[in-house]
Amino acid sequence: MKSPAAQTSRFNVHQALPPRAWQPGPLHWLLAGSHAAGVASIAVQPALWPWAVGAMFGSHALNFAFGLAPGSAALGPVISKLPLSAAERGEIALTFDDGPDAELTPRVLDLLDEAGARATFFCVGARARAHPHLVREITARGHAVENHAFEHSRAMGFFSVRRLVRDIGDAQKTLADITGSAPNFFRAPFGIRTPLTEPALARLGLRCVAWNIRSLDSVDSNPTRVASRIARRLAPGAIVLMHDGLEGRRRRATANAPSVLGALPLVLATLRERAWRSVTLRSALPS
Ligand SMILES: [Zn+2]
Repeated sequence: MKSPAAQTSRFNVHQALPPRAWQPGPLHWLLAGSHAAGVASIAVQPALWPWAVGAMFGSHALNFAFGLAPGSAALGPVISKLPLSAAERGEIALTFDDGPDAELTPRVLDLLDEAGARATFFCVGARARAHPHLVREITARGHAVENHAFEHSRAMGFFSVRRLVRDIGDAQKTLADITGSAPNFFRAPFGIRTPLTEPALARLGLRCVAWNIRSLDSVDSNPTRVASRIARRLAPGAIVLMHDGLEGRRRRATANAPSVLGALPLVLATLRERAWRSVTLRSALPS
């Protein structure tokens, strides 16, 4: 069966990014080394098998632990701050995940417009496909659209490289079809990466972006607390994680007033007071 994006795609190969060489992180080497050493030691001294199997499991446990640390480079390169040159210009990046959302995205766009701020929207492919006019609105107002996977699946931590390439590639095609240009950056749903994420991203030419300030706007219903959580750590070069889309459970948790709508004006006021500027990731990061 064709994947959802492939059924309707007008994806032009010229919109695709060229693949890049994939860069193993320290945990890739540890995983490969522990398996090679384990197999070799069992071959030479079969009685050592419990130790060998323990070492292999241990390296997988470390992979799992670091996979849950979004800013860790242990599983390959990840961007969690803007470069020094952008920080010296007083730039920060506000980023919004999980949209587009018919209710939230237009209101977030209006708030950004009022402050003259630019932001980056990590869109979910399936939601972009359902609301293409919102994705076009994001770019028409001067913001950037990047890749947050097609399905936004909780099972992504168990995907093979092939399945990762298909899912992230479907989002890439969908977003490129709508906006006319391919996303440059990928953000992992739920921040979870595996040893297979970097090889899949390299094949698609994408770079992984995390954050260094997590607002918790999707779980904390108090906008003042969300804004002060951001303000406490805000400094030039920061990448701030917020949301313009909420899943059912999280939408219910923040009742009828998602805290991003109350917190964002306070964050934008802080930026104005400190004479800092919110810019898109693509304008702050060299391509
Ligand atoms: Zn997400």
